[in-house]
Amino acid sequence: MIMLAEQIKTLAEQLAPEYIAVRRHLHANPELSYHEVETARYVQERLSAIGIPFQVMSTTGVVGIIEGQHPSSRILALRADMDALPIQEENDVPYRSLNKGVMHACGHDVHTSILLGAARILHELRHAWSGTIKFIFQPGEEKNPGGASYMIRDGVLTNPAPRGIIALHVHPGLPCGQLSFRKGRVMASADEIYITIRSQGGHAAAPHLTADTLLIASHLVVSLQQIISRNNNPVTPSVLSICSIQGGHTTNVIPSEVKLMGTFRAMDENWRYKAHELIKKQTKALVEGMGAEVDIHIDVGYPAVDNHPVFTDEVWAHAADWLGKDQVRETELRMGAEDFGYYSQQIPGCFFRLGVRNESAGIVHQVHTPRFNIDENAIEIGMGVMAYLGATVQPVTT
Ligand SMILES: [Zn+2]
Ligand SMILES: [Zn+2]
Repeated sequence: MIMLAEQIKTLAEQLAPEYIAVRRHLHANPELSYHEVETARYVQERLSAIGIPFQVMSTTGVVGIIEGQHPSSRILALRADMDALPIQEENDVPYRSLNKGVMHACGHDVHTSILLGAARILHELRHAWSGTIKFIFQPGEEKNPGGASYMIRDGVLTNPAPRGIIALHVHPGLPCGQLSFRKGRVMASADEIYITIRSQGGHAAAPHLTADTLLIASHLVVSLQQIISRNNNPVTPSVLSICSIQGGHTTNVIPSEVKLMGTFRAMDENWRYKAHELIKKQTKALVEGMGAEVDIHIDVGYPAVDNHPVFTDEVWAHAADWLGKDQVRETELRMGAEDFGYYSQQIPGCFFRLGVRNESAGIVHQVHTPRFNIDENAIEIGMGVMAYLGATVQPVTT
């Protein structure tokens, strides 16, 4: 294993400039969720150039496959996402986005480059490790219902069936050179809430002749908070945020329609669906009780991300071997969401974080912001660690 580690390190170092260039190409040419046409084509070209067979799946998904020695002895999946966000980039860099209003602001360009680099390394060293590795390049991580759900529906976890799946995500809170892990629940489920309150509307001076949709909306925002605070077990995190109220346009008209939107996050799947029922019930009871009509729609999003405890221990230990114990730490629990949750519901998964922060270079901005960027030294670390994990991690035996 020491020799293999050395070989991977040497290759990662040699290949890093090439995969930084890959990242810059992807960064300059971002595409929105489910429209990753050129990105998918580029990934296919890169895999072909290396000599890695692949399959196209779920329109813009690509799955490469490499067999090492004894291909059926150990089957693992490594996953990257490829989509960008509807954000106008504000970074003044030579590889700045060429697509107006579209930006790789979540680092999926980095994930894709790293996975291509890891595939290159594992392909070159395929006589030195055992098993089969699937390289999943998926579409649509940023948008419901999540590209992962389509890839699973279309068979990405079968034929051959991986017995563990690993992904990394860039983390601007963590210095470049470090990785962070957490066992068990690591990110939340996320569901979107859409509510429309209707009445006939009317004159502001005659509220008794209508139902006041804005007053009802105000009560509803406050009232829904108690769904979480009085019904969820407080030891398990959960959060509801109503983030938009739209209705009315002047001082003296009670609007006939008010729309509310929000997000609901949970760490427990049972509570999640119970909360949906409570939110619907409370909304109907309150609005109708105050004399208006209501439509409520909850768009069910990604499940919580569950890092399998035994599998995560295994991945964590190998990552610590690779990078040194001091560079690998525990990550905090977050209420953000990731469609990796779909994979982790099916097979043992480990989703960890790759440090990309560099304060002295001013690289400190959060993901999903117009100034987000990374310390590109993280690419060598990312491709090295993913290759090493691909070559060494043992699936959970149950
Ligand atoms: Zn994102
Ligand atoms: Zn992301």
